[in-house]
Amino acid sequence: MCMSKFGTLLDRVAVGDAPDISDIVALLDASGEEADALFARADEIRRACFGDGILLRAIVEFSSRCSRDCAYCGLRKAHRQIKRYRMSTAEILASTLEAAACGIKTVVLQSGEDDTLDPSWLADVVRAIKSGSDMAVTLSVGEKPQEAYALWRRAGADRYLLKIETTNPALYRQLHPDMDIDRRMECLRVLRDLGYQVGSGSIVGLPGQTLEDLAQDILFFKRYDFDMIGIGPFIAHPGTPLGSEGDGEIDAVLRVLATTRIAVKNAHMPATTAVGSLEEDHRLAALKAGANVLMPNFTPQPYRQAYEIYPHKRCLTEVSGACVPCMETMASAIGRCVNYGRGDSLKIKV
Ligand code: SAH
Repeated sequence: MCMSKFGTLLDRVAVGDAPDISDIVALLDASGEEADALFARADEIRRACFGDGILLRAIVEFSSRCSRDCAYCGLRKAHRQIKRYRMSTAEILASTLEAAACGIKTVVLQSGEDDTLDPSWLADVVRAIKSGSDMAVTLSVGEKPQEAYALWRRAGADRYLLKIETTNPALYRQLHPDMDIDRRMECLRVLRDLGYQVGSGSIVGLPGQTLEDLAQDILFFKRYDFDMIGIGPFIAHPGTPLGSEGDGEIDAVLRVLATTRIAVKNAHMPATTAVGSLEEDHRLAALKAGANVLMPNFTPQPYRQAYEIYPHKRCLTEVSGACVPCMETMASAIGRCVNYGRGDSLKIKV
């Protein structure tokens, strides 16, 4: 395709309320100078929405217990080789306060999808964080009953992350034998209705996934108008049924990220830990292709090593305090800065 035609295509996806799937696929298929133009447009839109500040979200992986069997995930119930833990309230508070002391104003509490998790215990944790700091609290603990979501919201939780992973129903079924895509979508609606800022996202490079599937994911993100969207590569975990598959390719991830930015505009989008955990760390490339968030890890040892969603996770052995200077260095390497604000959704209507 000639470059002026590609420019017209970019314009169409950027202005359209319901972009054509074939236009999205064409962007996802870009290479060479077309891919450069794609990343440049995404970067321009990111700057227009958020400026040059990179927001920080401290992640605390508070439990590796999981009742599900997602085919790609190292935390899956059937994987017996990892240590299962759940941090105590005091440990979670200590990690959160450590992040607060670094100037970070959001904590993401993430875990496996644990059926034995007591909703009122997590509500107490949220209340303790909210009464002891001015941190925004994001939860990421999977599909739960509406009452639990409501309880945590009343306790003060601000945001919720629940990735759809893939919107292809057949692929979803294959990867999540004990789950139901309609139920996951319903959870996302319930969370929105309860007033959470809601994040979703996808895994790129799943075995059998096509460009059309990825384009449908992007249309889904746009339709649901998510406040946050996390996109990362599939990373094969040897202890899972997909252990011998190849990892997702970074170029494909960057194209999905950039196309999503162009189509959805002002959702917060992290340069995910998974993007940083391929053979090389590609988070700077992601920040230059539309991402505006970094997620430093504040899970204390020895839990950090045990939370093995996928192998070779970035920063497995670093101490938490080292994160912020590292983020500052990353930001200045690309002429950006760290934004120490809370980073609430730009979509909140007041
Ligand atoms: N249990 C929670 C979240 C914990 S896992 C939930 O269901 O929402 C967090 C994210 O890690 C998942 O949403 C998934 O996108 C990602 N993940 C898990 N295994 C992965 C793998 N092998 N490669 C890439 N991403 C993976």
